[in-house]
Amino acid sequence: AATLVWLQREFRLSALPALQAALDSAGGVIVAYFHDPKQQVGEANSLWLAHSLVLLQKNMRAKGGDLWVVDGDFATQFSKLLSDYKVRQVMYSFQVGTPFMQMQQQALAICQQYKVALTPFYSEFLLEPQAISNQQNKPYLVFTPFYKALMAKQQYIEPLQEDIGCLTRCAQIQPTDQAWLDLPADLQALAREPWAKKMMSHWQVGEQAAWQKLDEFIKQGIDSYDYDRDFPSLNATSGLSQYLHFGEINPRVIYYYLQALMAENLVKAEQAMPWIRQLVWKEFARHLLVHFPQTETEPFQSKYKTMAWQEDLPNYQAWQKGLTGIPIVDAGMRELWETGTMHNRVRMLVASFLTKNLNQSWLKGKAWFDNTLFDADPANNVMGWQWVAGCGVDASPYYRLFNPVTQSVKFDDDGEYIRTWVPELKLLSSKAIHAPWEYLAECKLKGIELGTDYPYPLVDLKQSRTEHLERVAAIKAAS
Ligand code: FAD
Repeated sequence: AATLVWLQREFRLSALPALQAALDSAGGVIVAYFHDPKQQVGEANSLWLAHSLVLLQKNMRAKGGDLWVVDGDFATQFSKLLSDYKVRQVMYSFQVGTPFMQMQQQALAICQQYKVALTPFYSEFLLEPQAISNQQNKPYLVFTPFYKALMAKQQYIEPLQEDIGCLTRCAQIQPTDQAWLDLPADLQALAREPWAKKMMSHWQVGEQAAWQKLDEFIKQGIDSYDYDRDFPSLNATSGLSQYLHFGEINPRVIYYYLQALMAENLVKAEQAMPWIRQLVWKEFARHLLVHFPQTETEPFQSKYKTMAWQEDLPNYQAWQKGLTGIPIVDAGMRELWETGTMHNRVRMLVASFLTKNLNQSWLKGKAWFDNTLFDADPANNVMGWQWVAGCGVDASPYYRLFNPVTQSVKFDDDGEYIRTWVPELKLLSSKAIHAPWEYLAECKLKGIELGTDYPYPLVDLKQSRTEHLERVAAIKAAS
């Protein structure tokens, strides 16, 4: 009889309670990732996944174990594996959102059918979702009280045992299908694509790279994070979101690591806490999605279900390609396309422009982010989009539209970020670069012809703002 450790994310070999518990129990241990082509995530996310699986398998082999990557329909393959290998228990880390929740439900039904024990571990959470509720015993819908409640319960954040030791018991059972010891063909093909190679050239996947990034950030960025984090050209944030999404590094481990550094006075609390607070946004997003799974596809505030979004493919495509004519928006969209990531401040600006100025559904924006972000995460992405669109919990109020030009002047004062990603505007002065249509003489002088070298804005910012406010006022009046 064997124990199956079912990996969905949490691709690391330390502080992994599901694997630890399997190794502590008797019998052989199988560690498997199920790759179901029908349950796929976005392309950038899949690319990171492909590299991460290869590295994890290599690292597991170095510790005497192995990782099976089981290809095919999840329910069929999961059932087959349980019966072929006489699995008596399954351990896994609980994950939120699509496609994980659906697979977890399928796994539960199959385990019940086979009378196999299924044990979830909440190691991706600082505290389990049921552990935090307000005075009415309901989930928190506003971040700050959630944060305060979590901080008040810090003593219940359980540390994770770091070292899980050798993995030889994971190699006692050999798969009957040797293909499971390789990456599935579609993931291999994806990783070979020229765009994929180019995108990965900016990154190294895995646990070790994550720790290196964290340590660099603690040495070089954490003390100025609170001031600098909103400036996209400063590279002042940790860059850890994809590592966190894939569980190559774990928030609980980070939390305890920083506590230790603070206790030794190697990091000051006033420097570390703003960053920890930001990390708790991820926790908040996860708790919300556990309580309100329907918000992956529906606005949290139901009155916004009646929002009459526009179906305008050319405008949507211009947004995707970074050709809206609003330089800061275009810079963000091109950064995303080239690198698989985008600065948080700019994510807010491009999302606001799409949903409020272009009046296109947040679901379309979320879908594009899902496909292009390395860190595409069911919980963080849905919360981010609903927050900006104004229909989520604790959302940015409907009447607040980011003015992308004012924001650009404020957070990219000298236009450095725009110059990096929209090189056709790089000769413009720091004044003109944020709104070139207002500086036609300078454009002409610098040899930039608007409409040819760079587009005019897709919409008038002032007019589209007024129209947005009218639309939302009508919804408010009707509700
Ligand atoms: P840091 O500033 O160093 O923050 C540390 C960690 O805290 C991050 O890695 C992340 O895990 C967490 N975090 C920080 N800000 C947020 C936030 N606002 N919400 C939730 N968690 C946060 N983040 C994702 O991980 N995946 C997504 O798919 C995603 N989609 C987003 C969509 C929109 C429209 C918006 C506005 C934000 C989205 N975010 C998403 C949140 C945020 O932009 C990224 O987490 C952040 O830019 C990652 O950079 P970093 O790792 O350097 O963050």
